[in-house]
Amino acid sequence: MRTAPVNIVPATDQRSPTAQLSIRNVTKVFPGKKGVFNKLTGKTKGDFVAIQDINLEIEPNTFVSIIGPSGCGKSTLLNMIAGLSPISGGEILLNGVPITKPGPDRGMVFQNYALMPWMTVEENLRFAVETVDPKISQKKRDRILKEYIQLVGLTGAERKHPHELSGGMRQRVGIARALAIDPQMLLMDEPFGALDALTRGFLQDEIERIWEQQRKTVIMITHSIEEALLLSDRIVMMTRGPAARVDEILEVPFPRPRNRETIDQHPAYHDLKVEMESHLFRETRAVEAARVGT
Ligand code: ADP
Ligand code: MG
Repeated sequence: MRTAPVNIVPATDQRSPTAQLSIRNVTKVFPGKKGVFNKLTGKTKGDFVAIQDINLEIEPNTFVSIIGPSGCGKSTLLNMIAGLSPISGGEILLNGVPITKPGPDRGMVFQNYALMPWMTVEENLRFAVETVDPKISQKKRDRILKEYIQLVGLTGAERKHPHELSGGMRQRVGIARALAIDPQMLLMDEPFGALDALTRGFLQDEIERIWEQQRKTVIMITHSIEEALLLSDRIVMMTRGPAARVDEILEVPFPRPRNRETIDQHPAYHDLKVEMESHLFRETRAVEAARVGT
């Protein structure tokens, strides 16, 4: 029985005049390694269409999660937004300007942290800040480093190297580094995927707290329904691949600041969770069925 109406928005190609990021008819094709080029179609036989015709408008200061079966193309999409992977068709606009390469307007947080192992916490941040602004004054730089190290709760660990830190602390460095360059948006690809459940919970709470302070646009890929519900304003649900697309978008109405202890008492929580579970189950089951040839 439905206790509250759940706001499910079907995927559309409708454009929003206020969007910060516009993903328009975006397709990604990975060329087949041993393919034969067909001059008539312009395609190579054996090409792999990972995602096809994705449309998504992201408003400023919103927290958006992307969820979908494993291998559907979530990282592929995020990497195109980051400018790390070329777009095969369509376009992605940031403030109306097509994305063609990485830039300091987008901060990345990786699942495997991607820290420089020979640099300390402070040096990892300093490297990022100085790369983006080589002429930054020492005073301003040091103020930024202090501020972001403090923001993620790493004060006292400034001179430690990544190997001296736990996974959770390493990801705090990853988050601080991404934020220290003051990007317009934060792109996170399963940022807590490598962490144990408890550490994951702590970091989710940190992200919620930091998001309250900064309100930067976030696009986060996750496998966790609870994580998406705790953090997001909108949850984008992708279909299975190949030629994956956006199926539907859930609006998450919970007031902020959010608290993991009480969030499931909201009247919409149960229905949203059931909707996501059945979507993921349906899509993943279809992937498995295709794999075994049934
Ligand atoms: P997800 O992040 O949703 O798990 P990915 O974006 O990593 O999925 O991958 C989507 C699909 O594209 C998968 O089938 C994967 O095998 C394929 N793929 C990803 N990267 C490449 C690549 N560089 N070359 C060929 N195929 C790729
Ligand atoms: Mg991925």
